[in-house]
Amino acid sequence: MPVLVLFLDGVGLGPEDPATNPFARGATPALRALLGGPLVDRGVVDRPGVLLVPADAALGVPGLPQSATGQAALLTGTNAAALVGRHVTAYPTRALRDLLATHSLFATLRRDGRRVALANTYSPEYFAALEARRLRMAAVTFAAYTAGLRLRGLDDLRAGRSVFHDLTGQRLREWGHDVPPLTPFEAGQRLAAIAGCEEMTFFEFFLTDLAAHGRVASGPDDVVAMVDGLIGGALDAAAPDLTVVVTSDHGNLEDARSTAHTTNPVPVLAAGPGREAFRGVRAITDIAPAVRATLARPVAAEVR
Ligand SMILES: [Zn+2]
Repeated sequence: MPVLVLFLDGVGLGPEDPATNPFARGATPALRALLGGPLVDRGVVDRPGVLLVPADAALGVPGLPQSATGQAALLTGTNAAALVGRHVTAYPTRALRDLLATHSLFATLRRDGRRVALANTYSPEYFAALEARRLRMAAVTFAAYTAGLRLRGLDDLRAGRSVFHDLTGQRLREWGHDVPPLTPFEAGQRLAAIAGCEEMTFFEFFLTDLAAHGRVASGPDDVVAMVDGLIGGALDAAAPDLTVVVTSDHGNLEDARSTAHTTNPVPVLAAGPGREAFRGVRAITDIAPAVRATLARPVAAEVR
């Protein structure tokens, strides 16, 4: 049973308070229709076709959860923060790289002979910066690359086989690349279509964290609207056998009072026939095992 994982960096479940939580004040029509309300901390939400479970991202380690350890935990099912004794920001350390290279979903599923894809588009500028050592790979890219996955480029984007991290391709056009514009909804539809050709498809969206840190021009409310469009499009185009999973590595965007990460739980939203595998999720370390369990299930004649 195929799975599409929409990974949103820095999205927690906060209180339903429009004054502090952009998810509580945003229109978010897709999320509200799906969940019967906004994407906020309401405990487990169990509705026809969808399950939302809050997951701990602090992992019993003091301090604020961070991306490198959070993404390593999410991708491997190992408590990466406990393994290295702290929350590691941004780029994975040597120990985390070893963990990712051997135990990520990309690596383990490929060893099992599964068809696996990272659906992000990587720009020529990104590859040049890697080459010049001006940039290192963050956890998701590193895990996919070391598992032998091909990092998709502009030709893939033009052919409908990938989506740029900003969903719309606007940034690429600003850099002078001739790529067609997509709406967030169309980006979601495209990712669902890509997922129809694979067994596990992963997409990383990190404007959520950057906007919450105040590091990009887009404000938190704009990015919440993009998330809603992305999820709405993915569900709109999902084949009946596809399970769409939306999750995160740590909180941030849901608390506009600060630009720092939060210790809030993160959403594990599972829509589609494999959602039951996510009912037992309590922490972000439970996500990779649930993805594997969903993949292992035969496609039955279930209805969404
Ligand atoms: Zn961050």
